[in-house]
Amino acid sequence: MTKNGRGPTVLLMAGNHGDEYEGQVVLTRMIRELEPSEIRGRVIIVPTANVAASLAGVRTSPIDEGNLNRAFPGEANATPTFAMAHYYDSVLFPMADAFIDVHSGGTSMDYLPFASISTSGDAAVDARATSLLAAFGAPISIVWDAVDLRMAEVAAARRGVAAVSGEFGGGGTVVRGGVQIVHRGIANALRHLGILPANEIKPANSRLMEIPSNDFYVFAAEAGLFEPQAELGDMVRSGDPCGLIHFVDNPAREPVQAFFHTDGLLVCRRHPARVERGDCLGHLARDVAT
Ligand SMILES: [Zn+2]
Repeated sequence: MTKNGRGPTVLLMAGNHGDEYEGQVVLTRMIRELEPSEIRGRVIIVPTANVAASLAGVRTSPIDEGNLNRAFPGEANATPTFAMAHYYDSVLFPMADAFIDVHSGGTSMDYLPFASISTSGDAAVDARATSLLAAFGAPISIVWDAVDLRMAEVAAARRGVAAVSGEFGGGGTVVRGGVQIVHRGIANALRHLGILPANEIKPANSRLMEIPSNDFYVFAAEAGLFEPQAELGDMVRSGDPCGLIHFVDNPAREPVQAFFHTDGLLVCRRHPARVERGDCLGHLARDVAT
């Protein structure tokens, strides 16, 4: 935690899921870089929010199998993941004016990097989150409608905190482009909040997109070996092929074809080849009509 004089408080979080690394790289770097004398207000940095998961390189806690981003608002006298969620929710969120929670696709998905907000229904909070999302200035900004009340960003919004999240890479590696977007975006956000001097704000051209329904997702109909037929960043049409599921234990059987159900930009695709029935194979986003 770094504090200097009067000003807003921002809470920066990564490692909410332990195998999502771009944010962990950027936030540990910011702990080394940020000088208290440079800032006005307070910056609270949690680079490994579920530290046992980060150190093990897995999504959920190896201690209690807890998924921190499905544990909010948490519980004080529960297993470690729920107790941590309770601490973030009841101690850190009430201190914060803004919250940035950096995610990626982990070991299971690859994302075209984007920042995002989840609408909370509170117009004033949503307006501040929308401004923060614009200031962050990722190449793509997504507004989610379907929210899960157990997620950190949603819990923060319930506390009146302007919350920005996003998916900045994946595949169990560190995506360099994602690291750059996160580092620049957080610096932009700190300037927008007045925590860093505002004279260096660069205008950003962010593509505003939305994922309005489940039609934008494609799921595996059967278990097998997934061969993708579209690349991240492709604009696809409804009925275009998403991929084939092969049955290598039964070569005589024709593969099952998966199709996209709507038009859109492929922003997320499954990373490992092996799939189980019901696994997400990828999802689309569409431009917000202006
Ligand atoms: Zn995540």
